[in-house]
Amino acid sequence: MSDQDDVLIIGGGVIGLCCALALLEAGRGVRVLEAGKTGCGSSHGNCGTITPSHAPPLAAPGMIAQAVRWMLTPDAPLYVKPRIDPALWAWLLRFAGRCNARDCREGTLAKSALLSDSRGRLAAWVRDYAFECAFDESGVDYVYRDGRRFEQDASRRDALREFGIATVIFDAAAYAREEPAMRDGVVAGTIRYPGDASVRPNDYVAELARVVRERGGVIEEGCRVEAISSDANEVVVSTSLGVRRGRDAVLALGAWSPTLARSLRLKLPIQPGKGYSITYSRPQLAPRRPLVLKDVSVCVTTWADGYRLGSTMEFSGYDSTLNRARLDALERGARAYLREPVGPERREEWFGWRPMTYDDVPIIGRAPGHQHLWLATGHGMLGVSMGTGTGQLIADLITGRAPAIDPAPYRAERFQ
Ligand SMILES: Cc1cc2nc3c(=O)[nH]c(=O)nc-3n(C[C@H](O)[C@H](O)[C@H](O)COP(=O)(O)OP(=O)(O)OC[C@H]3O[C@@H](n4cnc5c(N)ncnc54)[C@H](O)[C@@H]3O)c2cc1C
Repeated sequence: MSDQDDVLIIGGGVIGLCCALALLEAGRGVRVLEAGKTGCGSSHGNCGTITPSHAPPLAAPGMIAQAVRWMLTPDAPLYVKPRIDPALWAWLLRFAGRCNARDCREGTLAKSALLSDSRGRLAAWVRDYAFECAFDESGVDYVYRDGRRFEQDASRRDALREFGIATVIFDAAAYAREEPAMRDGVVAGTIRYPGDASVRPNDYVAELARVVRERGGVIEEGCRVEAISSDANEVVVSTSLGVRRGRDAVLALGAWSPTLARSLRLKLPIQPGKGYSITYSRPQLAPRRPLVLKDVSVCVTTWADGYRLGSTMEFSGYDSTLNRARLDALERGARAYLREPVGPERREEWFGWRPMTYDDVPIIGRAPGHQHLWLATGHGMLGVSMGTGTGQLIADLITGRAPAIDPAPYRAERFQ
């Protein structure tokens, strides 16, 4: 059939593009269908940290009490907009049901396998394809003002070592010498994760797109997918630019995935977890490496020519307004820690929808009931960190090669 592509990739964010590149490396042909421009979704203004350290899932023991405290604080890092939305409440209930030690361990194992596989592959792609994306391997610092919380988290370092996550601990005095950007006397202690890294995410996505094209992949921008159907031979996709057929297709629509999955009778319990960022020109006294300001849950990333504050988790459906209180909270959080909390020029205010599953584990593998349709979605807070491993896993599964990591924890069957 001459009008059939080899593999259609539905969605041109970091996940779709990583799948495209890994499939090209495996000798397959790809066509990426993207409604806007590549990387215009959640992959654009995120914090760009590559964090194997984030292996423990959001659903953890103690999270419910923490969430209730946050919900009583107007500008807290977590917000659930009160409204009648059965899918959201079912999601929240299931999330609550996973906040126990056993499920948390299971989630950590699943996430750490994919995170550490991805971390190595990212370094290899940056090197092999000469990506210009401000890749920095000097680690990420989690900085604490609350001494009790610092001691508590520092005491878990042995448990993290089991998952291959190394830590370096700094007390207040040692960190004051280490990081001159911090205000005097506010830091109780810091945990550095030397295995973490960072990129400038929009540059990273642009580089992925460049290499996909250079290797013969086709990227169609402005191509909105309207419907998908599949049979024993192929996947047929109706788009704003006409019908596209593929021998296989990968659904990588991030937070938009459930909208198209419904017509395929697939249950994808993904909620958009809205986050915000503000990008500035670089302050003179910028932090030396990316920071997570733990008590306010603000992430700070510095690049040679830019600086970003980001975070917050808001469950307000597909609401596309910029919430001023949330943006202000980012700056207020940074001010509590940093001598120069913002850069001289404010360049962009942004929000993105993280594709959140309630177990905080992505969905990767064959779509149940669809021989040729594959899923690569639900990467939550870690799509940039898990992209390369996801791409490799999808390429291995589609080509029938032995996968580098056990695919079982990511299968969509767990939700059907
Ligand atoms: C504030 C914030 C900070 C973050 N920080 C980090 C971080 O430091 N590290 C990290 O690893 N992760 C981080 N994340 C998470 C990360 O951004 C996401 O996990 C990741 O971008 C998801 O990628 P994706 O390709 O699945 O989705 P997206 O990037 O959203 O891509 C989906 C694509 O599908 C397209 N699309 C939608 N509908 C259609 C349609 N009908 N037809 C065709 N195309 C369509 C969209 O235009 C979009 O380009 C952060 C997120 C936020 C919001």
